[in-house]
This record gives sequence, structure tokens and C-alpha cells, in this order.
Amino acid sequence: MAWDRPLLTDSGGFQVFSLEGFRRVDDDGVEFQSHVDGGRGVLTPERATEIQWTLGADVAMAFDHVVPGGADQAIARDALERTLKWLERCARRHAELMERWKDGKMERSFQLSNFPSFPQTLWPILQGGTHQALREEGLRRILELGSWTGLAIGGLSVGEPKATMYQVLEALEPRLPAPIPRYLMGVGFPEDLVAAVERGVDLFDCVAPTRNGRNGTAFTPDGPVNIRNAAFRTDGRPLDASCDCETCTTHSRGYLRHLFAAEELLGLRLLSLHNVRYLIRLAEEMRAAIRRGGLAAWAGDWRRRYTQPGIP
Ligand SMILES: [Zn+2]
Repeated sequence: MAWDRPLLTDSGGFQVFSLEGFRRVDDDGVEFQSHVDGGRGVLTPERATEIQWTLGADVAMAFDHVVPGGADQAIARDALERTLKWLERCARRHAELMERWKDGKMERSFQLSNFPSFPQTLWPILQGGTHQALREEGLRRILELGSWTGLAIGGLSVGEPKATMYQVLEALEPRLPAPIPRYLMGVGFPEDLVAAVERGVDLFDCVAPTRNGRNGTAFTPDGPVNIRNAAFRTDGRPLDASCDCETCTTHSRGYLRHLFAAEELLGLRLLSLHNVRYLIRLAEEMRAAIRRGGLAAWAGDWRRRYTQPGIP
């Protein structure tokens, strides 16, 4: 994909969880059926680590067992224990690959990437569902297992209420090591980013900007806009007057609406581009607010404007 900037990959744990068809999890790994061609596949912690190495990731994630947001204590405990065992196996395999790479003995099959900006780093994923005691125990045991360069919080935004996710983050925050980045996996709606940053999170990933863009929803400072709305038919204004992206500096809302009405694929791309740029600018604003010590006030203003009723 010719991406020459930092690259983070997921291990496949969440991706297996999100498959609706056949999947079987045991202590060795996961057997699953491809939703594309029905073929059977097997992922183990070792294999997930090797694949991420081959992809040339700068930050690789440990292979984890994700459970739904409503999972009870016993199920969440089982997945946490498995995730911790798998973390040890991922770390062992990762260390072996690093050794081999340092000695110049890496097999060619592990060198597919055009941009091997190694040394690669491996991050653990904290599981534990919505059970605070499990989250705290998981965190303690992860920190005992190694000295990590970052920490991912997984298994949130998987069907539990938003308020529950915020509570888990709030309770974890004082226990997280200050010097390393905290990565909240799979979270990406603007209001969640702001709420999570207020609770000490540094890093996010999500399909929200592009998936919503493809569905015709654009994020703006005045809240989300559905570009298919008839009100935009002859609207000559940009999608977001404050935005510097190609979409907003080139096209009108009326034209973007036309693209969606005519099912022109360009519309999907233009809204996706805008939404990604919107989130990057949102993060820039939050960083600036943190640096001047004014995040709480900034977040209050942002929330008031973003959630005001009516079509922006
Ligand atoms: Zn824009």
C-alpha cells in the first residue's frame, strides 16, 4: 500500500470476534471460516505475530480473545486468562523474530514489506470486559509480564453502554503507567474521542470516519450531517467551513449531495477524506487544549456546539 509512515496493525483477535459465522476458540488459538470464500483458517498467537512482522508493522498487537460487551464475569475471566497466556506466547515469538532479524538470519518470507522500519514493538491488549476487578487484575499482570512501550485497552465499544465504557476508563486511568501511550481500540466517534481523551487516552483507531463517510454522514463542528438531506440540494456552502480538506475547499454541499443521489462513488471517497481530516484536526485541537491546561473548558464548549439540535 506504499505507506511510508508509522504503521500499526491489529493481531486478528477482534477481527475473528467480529465474524458472524463459524469460529472456535481454544487455548491454542482460533479456527474460523472466512466470510469471503468460506475457507477455514487458523490463527495462533505465534502466527498472528509472524503475520504482523511480515506486514512490516511498526507497532504490532498481541493476539487477544475479545468477548461481547455484556459478557458475564466467568466468560470475561476465561478470555482474560487466555489473552494473558497468549501475550506470553506473542512476546516470546516476537523476541525470537527480533533476535533473528538482528543476526541477519531472517527468512525471506518474513521480508515482504517495502518499508521495514524496524525495530518493531509489540503492545499488550488489556481485556476483562466491563468487570472492573478483572480489568485491574489484567493490568497488574500485564505490567508484571514485561516492560512495554505502549498499552492497548481492548474489549470496549463492543456492545456495552457508552456510560459503562467511560466508567471502565475512568477507573483504570490512575493505574495506567504514565510514560507509555494508552491506546483505546476500535473507538472513533468524535464524542467518544473527546470523552476518552478526558479520561487519559492517547491513541485510537476506528472505521467510523470512513464507514460513516460511505454512508453519507459527515462529522462537522456542529454535529453529524447526513449529506443526502434534501435541505442541501442547492446549498452552495462547504460541508464544514472551518475545514481545510480537499472536499471542503473544493466542493459544495449541493454537489456532494448530488454525488450520493446519483450513486457516484466519488461521493463516498470525498466524505471519507473529510471525516478522517476532521478527526485529525479534532485531535490537534485537543492536544493544544491539553498543552495550555484547558481541556475541560475546551471539551465543554466543543460538546455544546456538537450536540446542539437542528441541521447544521
Ligand atoms: Zn473537510
